[in-house]
Parts: sequence; structure tokens; C-alpha cells
Amino acid sequence: MDRQIDFLWEYKQSAKLYGIEGWSNDYFGLSPDGLVTAKTLTTSVPLMDIVNGMEERDLQMPVLLRIENILDAQIQRLNEAFREAIKDLNYQGSYRGVYPIKVNQQAQVVEEIADFGSRYKHGFEVGSKPEMIAALSTLEEMGGLIICNGYKDQEFIDLGLWAIKLGFLCIFVIETPPELSLIIERSKSLGIEPMIGMRVKMSSKISGHWNSSSGERSVFGLTTTQLIDVVDCLKQEQMLHCLQLLHCHLGSQIPNIQEIRNGVVEACRYYADLVNEGAELKYIDLGGGLAVDYTGMQSNDEQSRNYSLAEYCEDVVDTLKQTLDNYHIEHPIIVTESGRATVAYASVLIFNILDTTRFEPTQITPQKEDEHPALTKMRSVNDYLTPEKVQECYNDIHYYRNEIHELFRTGQINLRTQSVAENLFLDTLQQISNMLDELERIPPDLEDLKLSLSDIYYGNFSLFQSLPDIWAIDQLFPVMPIHRLNERPDRQAVLSDITCDCDGKIDCFIGHQETSKTLPLHSLIEGEEYYLGVFLVGAYQETLGDLHNLFGDTNVVSVRLNRDGSFDFVKEIHGDTIADVLSYVEYQPKEMQLRYRNKAERAVKEGRISARERQQMIKAFNASLLGYTYYEREE
Ligand SMILES: *Cc1c(COP(=O)(O)O)cnc(C)c1O
Repeated sequence: MDRQIDFLWEYKQSAKLYGIEGWSNDYFGLSPDGLVTAKTLTTSVPLMDIVNGMEERDLQMPVLLRIENILDAQIQRLNEAFREAIKDLNYQGSYRGVYPIKVNQQAQVVEEIADFGSRYKHGFEVGSKPEMIAALSTLEEMGGLIICNGYKDQEFIDLGLWAIKLGFLCIFVIETPPELSLIIERSKSLGIEPMIGMRVKMSSKISGHWNSSSGERSVFGLTTTQLIDVVDCLKQEQMLHCLQLLHCHLGSQIPNIQEIRNGVVEACRYYADLVNEGAELKYIDLGGGLAVDYTGMQSNDEQSRNYSLAEYCEDVVDTLKQTLDNYHIEHPIIVTESGRATVAYASVLIFNILDTTRFEPTQITPQKEDEHPALTKMRSVNDYLTPEKVQECYNDIHYYRNEIHELFRTGQINLRTQSVAENLFLDTLQQISNMLDELERIPPDLEDLKLSLSDIYYGNFSLFQSLPDIWAIDQLFPVMPIHRLNERPDRQAVLSDITCDCDGKIDCFIGHQETSKTLPLHSLIEGEEYYLGVFLVGAYQETLGDLHNLFGDTNVVSVRLNRDGSFDFVKEIHGDTIADVLSYVEYQPKEMQLRYRNKAERAVKEGRISARERQQMIKAFNASLLGYTYYEREE
């Protein structure tokens, strides 16, 4: 298919079509020559330039692209927005952000946050020993803030106590009562005073996907009785001064600012009363929840948010100040644990399209004199097809098609005739579908007709490995072509991945002010790759993925954009090889090679193949073991 230049199509129409301004948070845009660009305040670089650079480096699709400047910019925006709000509202405490490592544990990401974040003293939230060890080894020790959530055994506690000796502000957040006695015991034994926080079981109910981690049935946090017990126990041990932080995580991806405000008010009540109980609290930790507007629609839908970052910070600071002033309580240091909002924007999954399926007639065979009457009946439907009669024609064409199926089943028509009928059927459906645009009201039966006739574009990726939340929780991510955006997209499609699983598909897309079941795309051009990007995938996707069909980790490339429009490939990690993924499921590649060699050698011995063929076979087998698990184009 040739490129169709449509001079009436402007790149700005593409921007609107894919809703890029809504979801990009100013990090992505479109250039007049139809390319998606990654943007910072000082520069903008077409993603296609980066893709070309990947190809030159033999980094095959799919690739997970990380843009370090965007990660830095989000940390900066978060910290500056809190500083601004604190200054404007004359709040007396300061802000300390921590990044929850579970949201993206990859070393490149965590190291970059530790490095760039050091100017804001940005810390880490950890929920396990491995995360604790990652934090201890990357964060600057003097004053580096580490919030320890999760179940903590003696080893975990010892790591944290030693960290305090090194200069870290390492705070154990008590989630269950038994932890406290272990902390006290280890503290005495090592002679190091702990810093302690308490996690409150919040009663504020939160909407959105993750609401079950809030409310009374939350599995996390202490009930009011347990809070009192902790205070009394610390008093008795003369350690109440160790209790410094109150932790109130409301949930993740909270779309409604009103609920955040309500949660902060509740947190303040606990804070005030605990201070009145004699606790020398210094920090109030509001947890995560700062949402990402995946759909770009600024709504209180669970995939969106009805507030800006500035508004979030102002509302949090303002609510804290007003509520605590009522109780004449000193303003605490505000801690938040924003994960999703920190890392989502910085990663883009890029893949190429391998093939498409269209639901259109490939050819309409002219009527023959001795044609089977069932075919002639199918042809006749087009004769009375008008917008007024779409439903009737839709019913008839299905009826005749079923008749054809029955004739085939009983051996009265052959495969070739059935194929002629299939084309006639698709032809009529396409004509009906085109007429629907003229109708004021689409009959209910026909509402999904366009969807059922949309193309399938096969993308070179595994949904289960790279976008698990689409499968697991119907998460929406923005998807769009990263080039050809100055051309009118002429197809409507759903996406399929290359696993053999019918769940490996994307069939809900973000458009301008609404979601849609199909994505507008361009016809493929012979001999040219067509690239799509899935955006905002930096949070939770990278390690939640699995090895469905043994598709492994993708190649990963980290770039840094420069002011002059150039960019540096800062880091690249080759994805899993076939040998890698096989060994994850306990195969032994060395032994597999040996066994394959033995099969080939036996074939030589029995005269089924030549020794030269044996050599070629073994070479191909060994090369495959070291190859990428995804579809590779030959040079
Ligand atoms: C998961 C989690 C977070 C991160 O939440 P986001 O919505 O991604 O910001 C923060 N704190 C705790 C305790 C968590 O469990």
C-alpha cells in the first residue's frame, strides 16, 4: 500500500485524536512532521530518532525506553510543588518525599532517584529486606530518610538499627503489635535507639481500584486500641520519645481530591491526640495515592484524577495547617510516598507491528451461470440495502451465511464456494457498517458491528510480560503510533500481542475526552516498520510481568536528552535470551545442547542427514539459545 498524503490532515488533529495533551503531563508532544517527541523544559527529541539509534546498536524491538530527564523532572516537580505550597501557606514544617521501591525496583530507576533526589533529600520507602538493602546501598547515609513498612523480622530490624548508627533516618513503621517487642529487644541488645512510626488503620473509604487497602477491613495498620497499647508500652519502657512518625497510607491512585482531604483530616485527628498523649511526633507520613491521569480526562474516574499536582500539595498542606492549628499542635514534617506519580511517565514501551488482519472481502467473484443458488441469494442482499433497511439486510446476510455453513457441513458445496460466500458476507457487512454513520439511531444489534469489523494489528510484545496490569486489572495506558502522525490514520484496529493467548490483546483505548474500543492506525507500508508506543508504563509494570509463553524481559534503554536536541544512550540492558528464560523454569541449556547434538549425531549415523547438515542444525540451535525471545527481523 502506498503512502497516501492527505493535505487536509494536520499533525494537530493527531494530537487531539490520541488525547496526548491530556495525559502527557507536558513530557510528550507532536512535531509538525508527525513524530512523537519526548520533551523537557529545554529540549524536545523525536522518539523515532531514539528508535533509529537502537536499531544501529542492534537493540531489537520490543524495547522499554526510559527517559532519565523525565524521572528527574517528576522528582523536581513534586518537591518544588510542596515547597511552594509550604511557603505560600506559611506552613511551619518542611517536606520530605520518599520513593516506595516496590513501584519500580529496577536498579537504574532506584539509583537515578537516589542520585538526582539527593538535592531534595528524597528518601525511600521499603517493604522488605531486599528493598531495604537496595535503599541502604544507594541512598546517601547522612540524614537519608528510609521508611520501613511491611513485616519485619529480626534481620530486617538489625539492618535498620545499624543504619541509624551510620547516619540514616531509618524509621520502623509498626504495622502489627508483635513487631514492637522485637524492636525493643533488638534495640536494647545492640544498644541503638530506634526511630518508630505507627501505621494507622484509616476509616476513610477511598474509591478506585485499590480501595480495599483502606477502611476498617484494611489488612494494614493498627486499630485505635493497638495504637494506645503501643504508646503505653513505649511509655513503660521510657522510649516514648522514639515514637516520631504517624503513617497514614490511604491507598494508591486516589482519583478524587475530596477523599484525600478527608483522609488528611482523619490523619490529623490521630496525630493531635497522640501528641496530647505525650508522643513527641515529628513526621506525618501520608503514604501514596497521588494519582496519574492515565486517560487525561481530569475526572474522578479510577484511571484519572480531578486535581493537579499543585492542587494536591496545596490541599494537603492547607488541610494539615488548618486542622492542627485548631488543636494548637506544632506543624510536623510532611512525608509522602508517591510512587506511581514519580515513575510512571519516564518509561515507554515501543514495539513494531508484525502483521495485520482485515475483515474485508479480498475479492468479489463475478456471478457464474451455474452458481449455487445460496450464493445468488447472498448477492441479492446488496440490491435492497439502504440505510432504512440495514437491520433487515444484516439479518438476511447472516441467515444466508448460516445456510452456506450448513451446506458445507453436509458436503453440498466445496471449500472454494464457501470462500466466495465469506467474501460476499464481509462485503455486505462493510457496506452496512459504512451506512451506520448516516443513521440517527444505530439499531442495538449493530452497535458492535464496527468493532467486529475492525482490523487486528499484531504487535511484537507480550502483554503479560510488559503490560500485566492491562490483563490483570483492566488498566488503561495511552497507546499511539510514534510516527506518521501527519498522515490521516485510515484504519480502526485492536492490538494483539504475540503470545498464543486470546487475553493478550488491547481493546480499550484513550482518545480525545473518551475511551474507545478501537484505535485509529495507519495502513502498513511494504518494507517499512510501523512503531507504536505504550506510554506511562514506568509504575508497577516492569516486575509484575511474567513469562507467559516464555517471552522474557525486553531490551531496556535509558537515554538522557540534551539541550541541543541530541541524546545519550546512558545505559542499555539486553533482554532475556532464550537460554535465560529456559533456565528460569529449571532447564539446563548446556544439557539441552548436548541432547540436541546427540539426536543430530544419531541421524548422521543412521544416514538421515549429512555431517554438514548436522553442523548447520547445531549452529542454528545454539544461536537460538542465545537469541532474543521476541520476533526478530532478519537483516
Ligand atoms: C504501594 C504503596 C505506596 C505507593 O503508592 P502510589 O499510589 O504508587 O504512590 C506508598 N506507600 C505504601 C505504604 C504503599 O504500600
